[in-house]
Parts: sequence; C-alpha cells; structure tokens
Amino acid sequence: MSSFNLFLLPGDGIGPEIMVEVKAILDWFGQAGIAKFETEMGLVGGCAYDAHGKAISESDMAMAASADAVLFGAVGGPKWDKVPYDVRPEAGLLRLRKDLGLFANLRPAICYPALADASSLKREVVEGLDILIIRELTGGVYFGEPKEIVTLENGEKRAVDTQLYTTHEIERIARVAFDLAKTRRNKVSSAEKRNVMKSGVLWNEVVTRVGKTEYPDVELEHVLADNCAMQLVRWPKQYDVIVTDNLFGDVLSDIAAMLTGSLGMLPSASLGAPDPVTGRSKALYEPVHGSAPDIAGKGLANPIAMIGSFAMTLRYSLGLGEAADMLEKAIANVLASGVRTKDIASAGQNAVGTGEMGAAIRRELAVVAR
Ligand code: NAD
Repeated sequence: MSSFNLFLLPGDGIGPEIMVEVKAILDWFGQAGIAKFETEMGLVGGCAYDAHGKAISESDMAMAASADAVLFGAVGGPKWDKVPYDVRPEAGLLRLRKDLGLFANLRPAICYPALADASSLKREVVEGLDILIIRELTGGVYFGEPKEIVTLENGEKRAVDTQLYTTHEIERIARVAFDLAKTRRNKVSSAEKRNVMKSGVLWNEVVTRVGKTEYPDVELEHVLADNCAMQLVRWPKQYDVIVTDNLFGDVLSDIAAMLTGSLGMLPSASLGAPDPVTGRSKALYEPVHGSAPDIAGKGLANPIAMIGSFAMTLRYSLGLGEAADMLEKAIANVLASGVRTKDIASAGQNAVGTGEMGAAIRRELAVVAR
C-alpha cells in the first residue's frame, strides 16, 4: 500500500470542523487498505498569530514545503480584523502560495444533478456541468511593477497597476491546461483580451504555439475574456478547460462558482512547477470558501468543498485517480439520496450537520468501494 505524507493546516473558523471530516476520510482509506496517510498538523491564519505573532511560522512553512501535499482549511475572522497588515491571517496563505511557487490555480465547477435547482441559472443550463478553470496565480496585474499611487504636480493623484507576463509564465500555465485537458474532454479555451491588451496578444501567441507544437491533438479555441464571462452564464457546458490570467481568472472562476449553487461545495488546488528530479509538484488544496465566522463552532458547515479538495489531492498530487473517482462518486450519491447541510437544503428540507454529512460520505465510500 502506498504511503503519503500530508500537512494539514485547518486554520480558523469552520476550518478545523471541516478538516476533522477529511481526517476521518484519510483514516478510512488507510483502513480500507487503499493508501496510507501520515499527517502532521500546523497553524495558519489567526490561530497562528495568537500562538506566535505570525500568520504562519517558519517551522510550519518547512513542513509545508516537505509534504507530498498541503491541505488548507480557511483563515480569518473578526477577531483578527485589526492585526497589523503583514501578519493578518491571509498573509499565511499568500506566503504559502509564494514560497511554494504555486502558479496554477485549478477550480473545478461541477454541478451535481441533485443540486441543479440550487443554482441561480436554469436546471438545463447547469445540470451535469463539469468544467475546470485554470487561473495563473503568481503573475499579471496583481504583482506587476510599477504598482503605485502618485501625486501629480497639479495635486491630482494617479494610480498604476501593471499587467505583466513573460513567455515562460504563459508557457507553463498553458502546459498545465493542455495536460489536464488530455485527462478530460481534450479541449482548452484560452481567455484573454488581445483586442485591447499587449499582454493578451502575447498570451494568445504563446498558448497557440504551445498547443500546436506540444499538444497537436488537443482542441484549442481562443475567447475574449468578456465574451467568456457571458458564455459562462449563457451555456457553460460548451467549455471543458478554461485557461486564463490572474485577473480574468479571479472573475471568471467566481462566475463559474455560482453556477454550482453553493460556496460550501467548491474545492480548489494550487500547483507549482514539477520538480526536475521527482516530477512531483508542490501543491496546496483548499475549499474556495472562507472561515464562515457566522456559523463557526455550530457544527453547521458543509464539509464537501474540503472533502472535494482532498479528492483533488488524490487525483493531482498522489496519482490515485481511482480513489478520487470513488470519493467524488460517494459525494454525488449522498447528495442524490437527499442528504443536505443547511447551505444546500431547499425550503422545508431537513438539514444535517457537518459530522453527519462526513459520516454519510464515509458510509457511501464503503458501498462504492465494494
Ligand atoms: P465566507 O466564505 O467565509 O462566508 C460567506 C457565506 O457563506 C457565509 O454566510 C458562510 O456561512 C457561508 N459559507 C461559507 N462556507 C460554508 C460552508 N462550508 N458551509 C456552509 N456555509 C458556508 O466569506 P466571508 O464571510 O466573506 O469571509 C469570512 C472570513 O473568511 C473573512 O475573515 C475573510 O477574510 C476570510 N476568507 C478566507 C478565505 C481563505 O481562507 N481562503 C477565503 C475567503 C474569505
């Protein structure tokens, strides 16, 4: 049985409650003889600030860097709203992304048939939706220099952000998209604004070249980012993998998120470059939602986004695609059987708590594994 070393960072708010359910699933996989997981637990966000005045300690950073993958809950909450900016809870997540070189953010948007009515779009538009948005995470306008507000001679102010991409940055994110498309429906849609932005012209050129020379069998289409936003709410099922830059990815992935109905359902992965020796990439897996302080400690949180993030860990970091399929099937079956946490229950429907949802998924895993 293969053995893996995972670093768990539950964080704040509902983070620890949903991580408990992932831990129970890790144990289940071990007991079922599918894979063995050694885990270490660290502190990130507000709880790390309370413990040692930093959003993540150096020793926890070292643990994150040496693990096969990091599982991250959520950080933040009103208790830490006034802590100094550089040690605010989110600084822990940003440091992990930066130091581990996590340049590719993967956000699947899957609409389970049982939840199609929870989406703000019509059932036929979203039912069975399964798309993957790949957002470049460490470049572009959020990081480009100059980035400043200056006062002009006439007293007016001028703000500048710089959209900046190099060939290398575009090539590596394009390869992530093409590689993943090959494991899915073999189609990449690249979104940029080449009609008005030089960075869009280069993005388009580089993605086209990588596609032609390295992935001639993968279908590639280009779409202007604003049109892509429109198409996502018109007929999202036309897409398989969408690859885009940091800014457009921020917006497009949030649009795609709403197609699926609830924040509590959305997993994500952030991957680094493959190690030249081992071929393994550094990786962090986390739900898209935050620490939900309004429901923290009440046992109401939906653990599916966190459990789905673990399914992505199995698939993308550990090479356990079959185990990932099993876990995703167990989630789909539990939803199809009508089990709901409060955030996904419709009016009048009974809702279960975090622990009951986790237990239902483990019971179904045992059925699916037979
Ligand atoms: P949020 O995602 O925490 O909550 C938004 C709403 O969705 C709340 O009503 C919450 O109860 C609900 N919700 C979220 N996850 C849920 C789940 N799993 N099950 C059921 N309901 C769920 O966003 P927010 O309220 O804007 O932010 C709260 C805190 O989280 C802030 O401190 C913010 O900075 C932080 N935050 C952290 C991350 C992260 O750790 N990656 C991301 C976003 C926000």
